[in-house]
Amino acid sequence: MEVRLLTEYDTGAGFTESMDADDPLREYRERFIFPSEPLSSPYIYFLGNSLGLQPKTARAFIENVMAEWGKLGVEAFSQGEKPWINYSSRLSNSLAPIVGARPREITLMNSLSVNMHLMFVSFYRPTADRYKVLIEEKTFPSDHYAIKSQMRFHGINPKEAIIEAKVRPDEKSIRTEDIEALIEEEGDSIALVWLGGINYYSGQAFELERITQAGHAKGCMVGYDLAHAVGNIPLSLHDWQVDFAVWCTYKYLNGGPAGPGGCFVHEKHKATKNLPRFEGWWGNRLETRFLMEPNFDPSPGASGWEISCISPIALAPLEASLNLFDEVTMKRLRIKSKLLTGYLEFLIDQIKSNQFTIITPRSPDQRGCQLSIRAHYKGKALFERLKEAGVFCDWREPDVIRVAPVPFDNTFSEVYKFTKILETS
Ligand SMILES: *Cc1c(COP(=O)(O)O)cnc(C)c1O
Repeated sequence: MEVRLLTEYDTGAGFTESMDADDPLREYRERFIFPSEPLSSPYIYFLGNSLGLQPKTARAFIENVMAEWGKLGVEAFSQGEKPWINYSSRLSNSLAPIVGARPREITLMNSLSVNMHLMFVSFYRPTADRYKVLIEEKTFPSDHYAIKSQMRFHGINPKEAIIEAKVRPDEKSIRTEDIEALIEEEGDSIALVWLGGINYYSGQAFELERITQAGHAKGCMVGYDLAHAVGNIPLSLHDWQVDFAVWCTYKYLNGGPAGPGGCFVHEKHKATKNLPRFEGWWGNRLETRFLMEPNFDPSPGASGWEISCISPIALAPLEASLNLFDEVTMKRLRIKSKLLTGYLEFLIDQIKSNQFTIITPRSPDQRGCQLSIRAHYKGKALFERLKEAGVFCDWREPDVIRVAPVPFDNTFSEVYKFTKILETS
């Protein structure tokens, strides 16, 4: 399958079967639990971009934490097979290749929007001349709220301080050169470049390396919301010199509903003097944390931003999932992902009715697994019929259906079935 070219797709059911049969990752589907109620036949779950499926082993990992708690009480933080005190840093080892970072540049804490605020405390440091934030059009609402409230907190009027990179008229995605041009023109007044690694609405993956360089060339901080990128596309946050990033673990990382948020701080900021941050005891170095001194002695690396202790119960299902990522690797997931999404694109293009436009970029390097499909008529009704037929996908006003075939657990047959339902609904 690895060598099959994207141009070799064909519309027959036989092709679909052979792709599934040749899929080196096909056994991984069995490692997840699929929703099955109330339909008797299984659903097609294309919503790994919203809540990733439950790994079958997740429950056992949670039960292990419960058992340790029962057996050891508070000693479970330091005793037992897997002391809780190191739980988060053990998971950082698995996250490191997923985000392309050193384990110490990663921490797990709070949730995405909270982490965004905490990161902004350190990295959005507006001055009289440099106070703007560059974002993409159709930024996720929580990012809007966080940015605007941060600005107001600093006494800045968001109307004057938010710059949006936009799609050109008659185009579907934002051009990297347009983002670069905005940075070039306005860079001296931009404090922070803040983009979604993949835009949640359009599915466009931004060229993060180029954008990071452009931002730095103008002296801006550069940070990313990777909610839709992590576990979906390859990332090299360290090598790209990204200043900081946040993500959630419950989408493509299958870490469980409202699971712990992920945070990246580039190690170059370790030596940054006077980098303010909001502090709490969990960010204190482990060696001195329990001396209970009044002066903060920060952990080196991203864990210095931790504030409170983190629940091992919340980390447990994420560990179950990250074990699967360790086994499969992003590289292999990405190979299948490109084929699977390419196949979905190919089949949608075959639908004759002119009813659908894919607004996600056509180039596989500029997207992850999600396709956003504009339904030109009867959009909402069509979406309702998809739901009735057992398809999990989602609807975004005014006319977009988002579908995310996930390489871990979706099949070529499901993509085929989905497009048949789409065509006949
Ligand atoms: C899912 C998502 C979030 C979610 O934020 P939480 O704080 O975890 O609720 C934030 N930003 C983007 C872009 C998202 O896609």
